Order: sequence, then structure tokens, then C-alpha cells
Amino acid sequence: MNLLPLLFLLPALLGLVPPMQVSAAPARQIHLLRPVMGSAGAAVKVKGVSCSSWQFGVETNSLRGWNTVPAGCESYFGHYMMGRRYREDSRAVAAAAAEYARGLQISSGGGKQIWVFDVDETSLSNLPYYSRHGFGVEPFNATLFDTWVATGTAPPLPESLKLYKELLSLGIKVVFLTGRAEEQRQITASNLKKAGYYSWEKLILRGNGALAHENALQFKSSERLKLTEQGYRIVGNIGDQWSDILGSPEGERTFKLPDPLYYIS
Ligand SMILES: [Mg+2]
Repeated sequence: MNLLPLLFLLPALLGLVPPMQVSAAPARQIHLLRPVMGSAGAAVKVKGVSCSSWQFGVETNSLRGWNTVPAGCESYFGHYMMGRRYREDSRAVAAAAAEYARGLQISSGGGKQIWVFDVDETSLSNLPYYSRHGFGVEPFNATLFDTWVATGTAPPLPESLKLYKELLSLGIKVVFLTGRAEEQRQITASNLKKAGYYSWEKLILRGNGALAHENALQFKSSERLKLTEQGYRIVGNIGDQWSDILGSPEGERTFKLPDPLYYIS
């Protein structure tokens, strides 16, 4: 009896061969989607709290001021961010925003209705960076992150890009408001355009000097106040951090995208 074919089959029979890769991924991936969900999820306990419960605390702004994702949750958040669920959660928020926008009376606004978009993890996705840096488990490294930003290659968050296009078609202008430094204006503008955000009313970055002591919430609130003082009406505001959407004037409606990877106060 010829045993040779059995020798080739043996690894597969023992489960030593990885399953065939499925290539039928959805269009407009952010970054190498991995269709695995929850395998390291609720079972992963961190100090008595599951990773998914920790995530709930983060997204409801109940857990504040944290520096890193719990070490045991890297795999959980890797699966969350790279799998379908992050996209589905983003889609639910962006779809609600679009539905709200379609109900607005834009034609009577004199062209002064604006929608404020945050940049990182809202308009652009830094998943290519965070996927190489532990999905929030590693302490934030500004030098490494700025090096990544300088490449100008962050992909769009597809759900936000779709919302952006719909808002423009409705006659709502977009203002990008970001905590990125003024020195990063050129690369940020070029990255936004490359990602499909081809025009905007304003791109507001964080300048140096007297306002350097402000936290993100104070900086963004004061910039929104300036916009209203310039006669703009902020009909909507979308961001991934609570500091994007808290602080008067918040905008007539706010929308919070998911982001369990980092916290900015
Ligand atoms: Mg952000």
C-alpha cells in the first residue's frame, strides 16, 4: 500500500494547516479586516471586568482618564477593531447622523450651516498604526505617532466618508476640527484629500502659544464658539472622543463614534 498521499494529508487531518483565507472581503476596507469576532472577548477578564464591559464603560464616558487599554484586552480589541463589529458600530452612528441631516431645512440657512468633524479615528483611521502598536495596550508614543502621521497615508473611516459626501450633497459645509498641531496642517490636508475629503469650509488645528494649557475639550469648545461668533450654525458634530462633543457650544446634535483604543480629555 502506498502511504505517500496519507503523509501529505496528515497535517491537515491533525489541524496543522491553517484554514483557507477568505478573500471576499467587503469593499473599502479600512485595514486588513480579520473576520474573527469575540474569540478573546467576554471570556477575557481584567481585574474582574470583561474587556467588553470595560469597552462599555469607555464608550459611555464612565471610565475616564485611562492611559492604556488593559493588557489582557489586546486580542479582544484587535478583533473588535479589525473585524466587522467596529465597522458596524460606526455605520450605526453615521447612518443616524445622515438620517438626522436629511431632516434639516438647509435651503433657508444662507449657506452657514456647518458640521464639525474630528480627524483622527473619525475622518481618518489610524488602524494601520495601532495594529502595529498593541491596539492601545502600549503607552502612547507621540514621536512614533507623529512619524506615522507624517506619512500622510491614513485611510478614511469609510462610514464617515459616506456621511461627509451626503452632508455636502445636502448643502451642509464641513469644518474639520482637530487636536493635531498647526505644524501638521499640510500633511493633514493632503491626507484628507487623498482619503476622499476633497473640500472643506475650514481646517482648524491646534496652534501653539497662549492656548497650549487648554485640554482638548476646552480647545475644541472655544473653537466651536468662535465658529458661532462668525455666524455659523453648527447643525452637527461628530467625533470619537467625548472631548470632541462635550463643552458648549456642542452643536445642535452630537454623534459619538466608537474608539476603545485611547482616551483624550
Ligand atoms: Mg479623534
